[in-house]
Amino acid sequence: MLAYIGLGSNLEDPRRQIEKALDAIREANKTKLTSVSSFYESKPLLDMPGPKYLNAVCKIKTDLSALDLLDVCQQIESDQHRVREVKWGSRTIDLDILLYGDQVLSTQRLTIPHPEIINRSFVLVPLFEIEAGLEVPLLGSLKELLDRIDLKDVKKL
Ligand code: ATP
Ligand code: CA
Ligand code: CA
Repeated sequence: MLAYIGLGSNLEDPRRQIEKALDAIREANKTKLTSVSSFYESKPLLDMPGPKYLNAVCKIKTDLSALDLLDVCQQIESDQHRVREVKWGSRTIDLDILLYGDQVLSTQRLTIPHPEIINRSFVLVPLFEIEAGLEVPLLGSLKELLDRIDLKDVKKL
């Protein structure tokens, strides 16, 4: 299965955090990291206080189920000392499963496609960089989604 993961960090050396998470994905069972976007800078959501974010998106080929992939992502977050205090608060690392093949899923633990994709330039722009022709299940072509949002808040590094 092809899947896309969004990575974000705004604490404790974000570049190192993202590199470290990518290394962990490289080492994950039944999973091959096939591409990684450039790194992008973005502002905290809803103008939350805190440092700027570094974001990237990667593409993997995996034999893990979507839920097992979520376990892997959450294990990496906990290995990198992610602490959840406030919703959308600052974090060392955040791994969101953006897409998992063309699967559509909505359970308490996991919603795919990630429900916020369409509102987030820091997801859509790096995703477009690595897979311009992507069709997002339920939501339409990535190109159309990009045309609909404001791109001024995301900067390629
Ligand atoms: P957002 O989901 O709006 O980006 P967030 O990433 O800060 O916010 P978290 O605290 O990291 O939110 O995650 C909260 C819960 O979201 C997780 O415990 C997980 O079970 C659930 N979740 C639902 N869908 C997904 C998904 N596609 N990828 C990752 N987590 C998901
Ligand atoms: Ca997130
Ligand atoms: Ca998350």
